This record gives sequence, C-alpha cells and structure tokens, in this order.
Amino acid sequence: MPSLIETRGLTAFYGDFQALFGVDIRLEPGETIAVIGANGAGKSTLMRSVSGLIVNRHEMILHRGEPIGALAAPDVMRRGIALVPEGRKLFASLTVEENLKVGACGRQGDGPWTLETIYDLFPILKERRRNPATALSGGQQQMVAIGRALMSNPQILLCDEISLGLAPVVIKDIYAAFSKIRATGAAIVIVEQDIAQALKVADRVYCMMEGRITLSGCPRDLDRADIHAAYFGAE
Ligand code: ATP
Repeated sequence: MPSLIETRGLTAFYGDFQALFGVDIRLEPGETIAVIGANGAGKSTLMRSVSGLIVNRHEMILHRGEPIGALAAPDVMRRGIALVPEGRKLFASLTVEENLKVGACGRQGDGPWTLETIYDLFPILKERRRNPATALSGGQQQMVAIGRALMSNPQILLCDEISLGLAPVVIKDIYAAFSKIRATGAAIVIVEQDIAQALKVADRVYCMMEGRITLSGCPRDLDRADIHAAYFGAE
C-alpha cells in the first residue's frame, strides 16, 4: 500500500535560496504526524510544497503513490489535501460564516464537515458567525482557519503553526478539536515549535533543521537529548 503522502528527496527554492535539501517524510492513513523545528528550519516551506503553494518537481511528492509535486494549489485541494496556513490568512472583508463558505469551494463529494458540524466543533463561531473574521480574538480566528480548511472535507489536513502566540487555554481547546477531527478518519500534519505539545499529540514526529530532517520516530522511542540536538543543533 502506498503512503497517503510521501515526499522523496524534496528540495525547494526561493529564487536562488535553497530552503529544503532532500526531505523525506511519509504520512499514513489516519495518522497524526508533527513536524517540529526552530524558526527558519523549513517547516512552512514543506507545508507550502505539499499543498501546492510552492510548485516542485512532480515526482518529489506522492499522494497515494501518484506524483503531485507539480500540481498547483487548487488541484492539490481537489485531491482532499487542505492547508491551515501560518498566520491564518483569513479574508478580512468577509464574516466568519463567509470565510467558512470559501473553504467549501474545494469540496469533493460528501464528508462529515458542514457549517453545522463546524459550529458543533467550535460553538463560539456560531455565535460570531455574522461578525467580520478579523473582529475575533486570535484563537477564534485560528478556529475559523481550521473550519475553513475542514469545509473542503479533506482526507489530509496540514496545519502550520496553529498554536503560535495563543494562550494555553485556547491551545488546549484547539488540540481538543483535533482529536475529534482525527476521529473522522482524517490524517493530520501539525507543524509545531512546542516540542512537548508535538510529542503529546503525534503518532510520529519529524524534526527539521536548516532544511533537512534531522530526526524522526514515535514519541515514545525518542530520547529527549537526541530531540534537543536535532532541534537546536549539536552544542
Ligand atoms: P518559521 O517558524 O519561522 O515559519 P519555518 O521552519 O517554517 O520557520 P520556513 O518559513 O520554511 O521555516 O523558512 C525556511 C527558510 O526559507 C528560512 O531561511 C527562510 O528565511 C526562508 N524563506 C521562507 N520564506 C521565504 C520567502 N518567501 N523568500 C525567501 N526566503 C524565504
């Protein structure tokens, strides 16, 4: 069985600047994986590559064994791969509900997510549905960004730095929602700078540094000192 997503020797460039150097990761059906690493390690570049925002060589990214590396973002989304981007990128002039509806544009077939089920997941969004998205708190905006991605009924949810800058109580709520999203059978990739949080939720963890995977494994098999070295570099 091919993996749900596999990257093979993935490289990525911004002009002449190389941000990824041969990244190999895989995501299996129903799995939650975490990608950890310090600022600038390449985590967002990896998410942008898999979601089609950065176009790569076709054979460098496989979806169920089929090359998708050169597909543009809308075509990737139509394959059931949705991104919650770093910084949320909500539509400022739209209400909460309108932002959620935008996510439904990439919808393929039936699935568990509708406005109603997203409001069940994040009840505060129902109360605020007619407010401009940018009038919400940071945590609530993050819920809109997650809801918007879910509206396409993705099989794979890519979440870039969803807890950055949020209060611990809000982070707890957002991670509680993840266990419900997981229960629908979706596979999830979480990009996290918080190592402890990543180890808590992920089936497997990849650590990145300077555009390379420096460590990977199941949280229970990883040694704290090895993670520290893979994250910050050897002292
Ligand atoms: P962060 O947590 O800060 O977002 P990251 O691990 O997600 O870090 P990336 O954003 O993927 O890292 O950045 C990887 C490298 O690519 C960094 O050296 C960064 O400066 C560079 N980079 C990222 N975006 C661009 C861009 N649009 N143009 C040029 N270089 C970029």
